[in-house]
Amino acid sequence: MVKETGSAEETFLLAEQIGKQAVPGQIYALDGDLGAGKTVFCQGFAAGLEVRELVNSPTFTIVQEYTTGKIPLYHFDVYRIEEPEELEEIGYEEYFFGSGICLIEWAGQIRELLPEQTICIRICKMPEKGQDVRRIEIEGLE
Ligand code: ADP
Ligand code: MG
Repeated sequence: MVKETGSAEETFLLAEQIGKQAVPGQIYALDGDLGAGKTVFCQGFAAGLEVRELVNSPTFTIVQEYTTGKIPLYHFDVYRIEEPEELEEIGYEEYFFGSGICLIEWAGQIRELLPEQTICIRICKMPEKGQDVRRIEIEGLE
């Protein structure tokens, strides 16, 4: 599925719809340049799960857990990960193979650790179409 959004709000709403339909055990891998809208997507997705806490990029930790929604949400930002072993140290398998949902910003950094059924989301800026336009490609969601 490929969508184009024209504002952060639209990306939020798209992600909110996806979050509403999400099921336990899913992993969503997000990629896209800095400022593409990965965190905005995560915020919308969390709203779809009815998470009540404020969702931001987990700056000081690799993973932030949100447990106020319908399904536990584990929000990863693996930008600073240099070796997959660093994820092993935080016990990522508990998150990936548990019954919550994982959203992973900069998932390309840990490509080799992602299970085959991972849902891949790539957000691209489209400067030729306007500053706020994004192309959002979603693969693996039926
Ligand atoms: P990332 O997490 O990918 O680094 P953020 O989600 O933190 O990016 O930031 C995206 C920025 O781009 C925000 O300031 C947001 O308001 C802005 N923006 C503009 N248009 C869009 C859009 N169509 N979708 C998402 N964000 C957008
Ligand atoms: Mg971010």
